[in-house]
Order: sequence, then C-alpha cells, then structure tokens
Amino acid sequence: MKRLIRVLAMLCVMALGFCALAEQSATVTSVEAASDNTEADERGVESLKLIADAMVEKNSVNVDTVSGATGTSNAVIAAATQAWLQIQAEAASGEDWMEAAPAGDTLYQVALLQSLVQGYYDGIVTVEELKQHGDTGIGTFEDVNGEMIVLDGTVYQAVADGSIAVPSEDETVPFSNVTFFDVDETLALSGVADMAALQEAMNGVVNELGANCFYMVKIEGTFDSIKVRSEYKQEKPYRALDVALAEDQTEFDYEDVRGTVVGLYCPDYMGGLNTPGWHFHFINEDRTRGGHVLQISVKEAEAAFDMTDGFEMAPLKNPVVDLKKH
Ligand SMILES: [Zn+2]
Repeated sequence: MKRLIRVLAMLCVMALGFCALAEQSATVTSVEAASDNTEADERGVESLKLIADAMVEKNSVNVDTVSGATGTSNAVIAAATQAWLQIQAEAASGEDWMEAAPAGDTLYQVALLQSLVQGYYDGIVTVEELKQHGDTGIGTFEDVNGEMIVLDGTVYQAVADGSIAVPSEDETVPFSNVTFFDVDETLALSGVADMAALQEAMNGVVNELGANCFYMVKIEGTFDSIKVRSEYKQEKPYRALDVALAEDQTEFDYEDVRGTVVGLYCPDYMGGLNTPGWHFHFINEDRTRGGHVLQISVKEAEAAFDMTDGFEMAPLKNPVVDLKKH
C-alpha cells in the first residue's frame, strides 16, 4: 500500500503552463513554471520562477507578490493556491488513498459467522467456486467437517484426527474467508511467548496501517509450541456450534514445529459480519497436520499482512431457515 501518493495538478494561467507537484505529506516539493508559448513575455517567465522558488522555500503557496514579479504574479499565486487546496482536499477525503490500494484486494466471505455459530452447517459454495475468489484463507466444510486452511491456492482440510486431507472440488463450504494474497507489510517475530503476545504484536502493524479494514495474514516459521483443535463431522439435526464443540472438539499439541499460520483480522465495528480480532488456523510444513489455533508460542517467524479494503459476500443460501431453531 503506497500511502504517499503523488498528486499532479496542472493549470494554465495566461498562456503559461503552471505545474504544482506535491505529496500527500503536505510538503511543497517542487513548483515548476513552464512556457510553451514563444510569445510569452520573458519577464513573465522570470516572475513565475521567482514565485515558484519562494513557494518551495516557504513550503507554502502563501507567498506575497514577489519583488521583481510582474502583474501576472497575483493570478499565478491564486491559481497555485487553488491547486494546493484541491490537493489537500483530495488527500483529506482519502480518494487518492483508495485509488492507491492494490487492485483486487477484496476479502471474500461465505455466510455470516453467526449462521455457523447458530448451527447452519449446510454448504453454500463449492471448493471450486471458493478458489475463484482467493488463494489464501480459513473456514470450515459442510457439517463442520474439520478446519479449512487455504494456502498458495490449495484448500486443505484439517479433520477430526488432526490430519490433513485435500478435499474434492465438489466439497462444499458453509463459512470461509479468502483473498488473493499480496504482501502490504511484514513483521519479524522472535520469541513471542503466547497468543496474547502474538496478537499484541500483530495489532501494532494493523493499528499502523489502519485498524478499520480486514487483514489476511500469513505467519511462516518455527513455533516452539502450538495447540490446535478440530472437530467431528456433525449430523442433522445440527446443534449450535458451542454445543457441538463441547462434545466433539479434538485437540492436538505440537512442539518445535515448522509451518504456516493463516489468519484473519476483523475490525471491531464489523462484529456483525465476523468475529472481531484475530482468528488463526495452522498447517505444518509437510502439510500433514493442522487445525484452528488455540494457543501458540513463536520461535522465529515472519508475518505477512494483506490489507483487504474491499469486501464481498457469497449470496446467502439460508434465508428460509430459522437459525434459532437449529
Ligand atoms: Zn477456526
């Protein structure tokens, strides 16, 4: 994410071209006065140069009429001021900031987390369809048949015994978040003691980049210890997720293990869409073990952050179901 963007404003003033080149950081970096009109008064060009130099030196368009300038100077100063105000207004509105966001940075979500929590476990999209919306993410499968990890375009299924399967393209998905991952920021992690410390470190980057977007993250490295869970496949009539997990959750502990944690950050104010804060799933380097992360201690790893400022949801397939009865 390029947070500093160059804004070019060009104005024509009295047959003379006038360019103000500035950055969002509100610094006058250069002001150019140019003429492509051979008829232009040489004294007029000289005036513009004097004004331009004064603007850069003062880091402001608020320069008084410059000594030695001609009558064109007031018009030029007025035009430069107008251009500068426009640049500042655009920067303040965030318009250019949004335009500078990487293309295709959209988080794709299947269902509201609340539908899963309340016990709606029917698949909504196929694995094949899901992969058209991202190469990285997390989720679960029909009947809550294990934890999903999507990494480098492959969908993995950490089933109840903690092992990894690669589901068929026809397998269906009741809940997931995926995106096409690109790295906006990285963070080196070393000796991070537990989940709380990891979340605190990750929050530092999110708060720096902007805490009101979803982020997909990948944390690749070595973990001193990691505790994950999966669960047994559910049968109808479905029970609410907390009831199902209370009986059917399975847990696994790994030590000194290499692998990748795929995680989602959901902003507080989007709590109606998903669970605010962090949600991590793990898969080991051999792609043989994995699950939903309950506890973690990082030895050495690098976290990569993908800010996803777009949001798209799969069409809801459960409008006729009374979730409260599940
Ligand atoms: Zn999970």
